[in-house]
Amino acid sequence: MGSQFTSIDVESDWPRVSGESRLPYFVGQDDSAAVSAAIGQLRLGYVGLGSVGLSTCLHGARLRPRAIYTIDPGRWKAESVLTHPIYSGRVGEPKATAAGRLCKWISPTTEVFALDGPIDRLAAEELTDLDYLLLATDNLQAELTTSELSRQLGIPLIQASVDGATLVAQIRTLANSVESGPCLGCGFNRAEWDYLNSGAKFSCEGYYEGEQHAATAMVTRSTSSLCSIAADLSNMQLLRRAGGLGKSVDDTVLEYCGFTHKTVVSPLPRREDCVCVDHRPWRRRSVAGRLSHRSPGELVEAALGFSDDLATIRVRGDWFTERAACSTCGPRPVRRFVNWRQDPPACDNCGRPLAREPFFAHRPVLLEALGQCAERPLVEACDLPVRSVVVQGRGETVLLVQEAEAQQGTAT
Ligand SMILES: [Zn+2]
Ligand SMILES: [Zn+2]
Repeated sequence: MGSQFTSIDVESDWPRVSGESRLPYFVGQDDSAAVSAAIGQLRLGYVGLGSVGLSTCLHGARLRPRAIYTIDPGRWKAESVLTHPIYSGRVGEPKATAAGRLCKWISPTTEVFALDGPIDRLAAEELTDLDYLLLATDNLQAELTTSELSRQLGIPLIQASVDGATLVAQIRTLANSVESGPCLGCGFNRAEWDYLNSGAKFSCEGYYEGEQHAATAMVTRSTSSLCSIAADLSNMQLLRRAGGLGKSVDDTVLEYCGFTHKTVVSPLPRREDCVCVDHRPWRRRSVAGRLSHRSPGELVEAALGFSDDLATIRVRGDWFTERAACSTCGPRPVRRFVNWRQDPPACDNCGRPLAREPFFAHRPVLLEALGQCAERPLVEACDLPVRSVVVQGRGETVLLVQEAEAQQGTAT
């Protein structure tokens, strides 16, 4: 998947066990093997690994899924031990990696990857492998960004949150399958919108500007038990949806109140005046062979069914950089897709790092602005492997992914 993730591996001397050995025969299921097989294939992404998220993802690991991705910019504080399921470790440990290590220890057969950074550092193209996103953060911007990514990718999102003072846990399950469905922004109240707007960091494409990740995360004031209930209920929704158990949980909010012990499930409505204007999931198309061996022109045609110079293309969220500035030599031609955060280019003349010139770096980039690069294989204009490409034509956005077979051997 995305090269921003670190693969997690830990030594575990715990005896190996089968993931199915404690899975019950669920009521109403003729074929329990099908449920455990479905769960065993899941690739789960966890955004926010704090009081609620860490519990959620440890439950996830015990389901023995195929892959787990953990994403969190935070680190353990001394107080974390009061609400997080931490049993050993040290203050300052990055939450995503720490969670990933625990998951890998619990489920050595699961592939585990961690990103110790904010979700808005990722473009949707880097999360195309996921089957679910599970979100548990107090950061409104991160919530919107995650909602946006999950909707673009057309994958379900399960969000867990708590309100400590009222002893309420809420679980929102978004199917993200149709344009008429709700997003998380649809449920924000006026105060939340005002708060986001005052932070001046809101944009439906906020993840593009990830460098300036706002320090808007609040401290969770809650009890460990309420956080754990939220995590448990979140996992229940995952189990039900992935295992096909009971009635559909799509586009609902499940609320538990500790003062009354009542649980209420209500539909989540789509708000017509939602600030996230575009609610359309991207159309997903798979392409045979390596994407990086195709030219941008061919990819636009594969996506839209016809060639269109006015279509735009986005590769891994990188900037197509026509030229960049060297402090010594002046402007230098680049003509490549560049990830400025990870992989800034060096001057071809003196080797010093180049600086981005906003006017000469485009993301997404018009096919016609690519010039000769439009007809050359992508691999000539990209250093990192390309797993997916986003093409936007008039009226629709298409996510091109490599067919599964071609993805083998390009693990990044
Ligand atoms: Zn919305
Ligand atoms: Zn130079």
